[in-house]
Amino acid sequence: MATSAASDTEEAARSILIVDDVSANLQVITGQLEARGYVVLVARSGQEAIERVAFAHPDLILLDVVMPGMDGFETCRRLKQNEASCDIPVIFMTALTATDDKIEGFRVGAVDYVTKPLNTEEVVARVTTHLALCALRRQLAAQNRQLREEIASRGQLHAALQRSNAQLEQLAYVASHDMQEPLRMVASYLQLVAQRYGSRLDADGLEFIGYAVDGAKRMQALINDLLAFSRLSTKTRPFEPIAIAQIVATAEFQLQMAIKDSGASITKGELPTVLGDSTQLLQLFQNLVGNAIKFRGDAAPRVHVAAQASEEGWLFSVSDNGIGIAPAYFEHIFVLFKRLHGRKDYAGTGIGLALCKSIVEGHGGRIWVESSPGRGSIFRFTLPRVKAPT
Ligand code: ADP
Repeated sequence: MATSAASDTEEAARSILIVDDVSANLQVITGQLEARGYVVLVARSGQEAIERVAFAHPDLILLDVVMPGMDGFETCRRLKQNEASCDIPVIFMTALTATDDKIEGFRVGAVDYVTKPLNTEEVVARVTTHLALCALRRQLAAQNRQLREEIASRGQLHAALQRSNAQLEQLAYVASHDMQEPLRMVASYLQLVAQRYGSRLDADGLEFIGYAVDGAKRMQALINDLLAFSRLSTKTRPFEPIAIAQIVATAEFQLQMAIKDSGASITKGELPTVLGDSTQLLQLFQNLVGNAIKFRGDAAPRVHVAAQASEEGWLFSVSDNGIGIAPAYFEHIFVLFKRLHGRKDYAGTGIGLALCKSIVEGHGGRIWVESSPGRGSIFRFTLPRVKAPT
């Protein structure tokens, strides 16, 4: 590690400024450093050092403490005050006994010191180490900068995505809302034509009107489902305690025609109270129970709604004895508009389970299915538990 860092440094940072008014002890060190590939610059005073640093920008400075005029401490202080030179590591050269000098050296910003008379090997070792550290620090700073830039640009991207999602949701809401009225007109006037003028139309004419009414009704169902879906994000309400038994009873009431027609029996376990949005939770249970009835096999549907406490909160299940689903489609069916059957077999828009998924996730839970073809299905989902008042 130290070796590779040192060699990185030797490639990237190679100039060293030695500041000393006495040239006698510098020759050996200069020679050793040059032998290791460093470029060595020399300054004879603090003032000269500051001037040289301004244009040469060395990678490390070896600075003598005692010099006529500006001493080493003052030189170091000025270098550290200057933005262009403040990050250049400074190593002081002090007398062996001068403890105060060493402390003062660190105080004014030095990274290390070497004692005089200088030991060449020690100086070279310290220079190499500090250059390596400095290179690592710069590398880290560059990585940090890059990370900060990435985070900032991701933040901008996220905000732009959120804006465009919100606009799309608004658009879906407005479009489906505004389409409701003209569509209602088309459907009701077609029905009126069939009623008033049906006797004057031949069989083909009546059949065509039948198709048109059917198309308009399907479009209405699609628009209603789309509206419900876009309302999830455009019309949010604060959560409140909701008794799920009540919600399931309302869902049963809304589905009474389908229950009666299919001879379905719906049973329920003990159901808890959760924090949520009552409209959304009704949509959730109505869709799941509605599907359990709709995707029935030959036998009359038997649907069971239950809940139990689990580590994730409440674990709900809506199980049926219907046609079941092959494992390959377990994820697929929760995607918007994905259906496993043509509308001739089972009517629908393919929005129901996508809506359920959004509702459950919006309430802080997750939803999945367990099933196999011909053996019924169990839709399971979790919802957080209401904290008991303390
Ligand atoms: P839709 O009911 O409008 O088709 P959904 O999003 O509610 O749309 O369901 C997607 C598909 O998942 C359905 O078309 C059906 O193939 C399958 N599915 C949903 N619920 C059941 C169920 N209880 N039993 C069998 N298949 C189901």
